[in-house]
Amino acid sequence: MKYYSTNGKAPIADLHKAVVKGLAEDRGLYMPERINKLPQEFFDNIEKMSFQEIAYTVASAFFGEDVDPDALHDIVYDTLQFDCPVVNVKDSIYTLELFHGPTLAFKDVGARFMARLLQYFIKQENNHKEVNVLVATSGDTGSAVANGFLGVDGIHVYVLYPKGKVSPIQECQFTTLGKNITAIEVDGVFDDCQALVKNAFMDAELNDHMKLTSANSINVARFLPQAFYYFNAYARMKEQGKADNLVMCVPSGNFGNICAALFGHEMGLPIKRFIAANNANDIFYKYLQTGKYEPKPSKQTLANAMDVGDPSNFARIYDLYGKSHAKITSIISGATYTDEDIKQTMRECYKASGYILDPHGACGYQALKDGLRDGEFGVFCETAHPAKFKEKVDEILGIDVEIPERLAAFMRGQKQSVAMSKDFADFKNYLLDQ
Ligand SMILES: *Cc1c(COP(=O)(O)O)cnc(C)c1O
Repeated sequence: MKYYSTNGKAPIADLHKAVVKGLAEDRGLYMPERINKLPQEFFDNIEKMSFQEIAYTVASAFFGEDVDPDALHDIVYDTLQFDCPVVNVKDSIYTLELFHGPTLAFKDVGARFMARLLQYFIKQENNHKEVNVLVATSGDTGSAVANGFLGVDGIHVYVLYPKGKVSPIQECQFTTLGKNITAIEVDGVFDDCQALVKNAFMDAELNDHMKLTSANSINVARFLPQAFYYFNAYARMKEQGKADNLVMCVPSGNFGNICAALFGHEMGLPIKRFIAANNANDIFYKYLQTGKYEPKPSKQTLANAMDVGDPSNFARIYDLYGKSHAKITSIISGATYTDEDIKQTMRECYKASGYILDPHGACGYQALKDGLRDGEFGVFCETAHPAKFKEKVDEILGIDVEIPERLAAFMRGQKQSVAMSKDFADFKNYLLDQ
């Protein structure tokens, strides 16, 4: 399969290059030149298949031309060591729980898959050297990437995070791992971490010394595998005879997650329509209303993983539908909620059903409550476990959210990190010594 850039000015790439590079030379996002439709027979029998079987079928359609079938089978099964169940919340509203992975957030699926696919391609290279993944994080990306790559042979991960600016629950998820993961505590803010990483990628001497790559969320190997759990959600709803008028609702920030769902739809997944649920960062919502895409600086909200003022995957969605506003609005609608709305939703849902929403999932639940029509069933993604935002959730609901054992285990771990100034010369010297 060939991949082209959404900016149209970079050379066509194969999967290997698209995965190792992440972003195309013209700073566009890679898109597959074709999206293979899955046969009707697959959808006729999907409810009899397991999550892993479904995922392998979908993965073969995307990656089967470029990855050996046995290797792809191992990558998929090794990635999906946890379930993504569909659970009824209230009436015809269901939640697709994506928080059963190692860091209790949906990014685990993409990060684990990407780590394994990157390893597969590195092993094929002549005289392959260890690859070093650099990732700057303000919290959640660092933990998903670090845990996704944990113990993956031939890859070392450096997580750069701003000192004192990451919550203790987030910090322990990438500072306690050891093995091939090094946490670097930068005396600065997130932008300083990002600048160090960018400078490292551009430094010729450093790139001569060691092989560097990123694990950016725009990477095709990170966003496409997210389609797996939408197919599984359809299968589990079909099992219950509730899949005919299915609405899928995705709390969105950079729009990678919903983009994967839309790719699934192009492969034939029978979802009737989609809702992109936003917090107060309403750039996509405004685009749907006006046809104008106007990025803005992001606003801080309760659902902070969705605080994005210029969603990077908008370029993919725009390209997927031939830049047609009419086409996009025919399949996707939007919703936007303030922090006050989010709090109210969390309280209402807890009172009515006992279900504890996290602030991101709350946007999804409310969008279905507001937008679901008669005869439709709705599934929203619960993108993180509420315990990841324990302080906020406890305060809003007046409860004491239970911390799952795998999160508690991180919190008991021994924190280890390398102290670093925000001066690139220091970071470079450190890397040259590795
Ligand atoms: C990253 C994230 C999102 C947003 O996902 P996108 O793919 O960027 O749209 C939503 N919720 C949580 C908890 C996240 O970590």
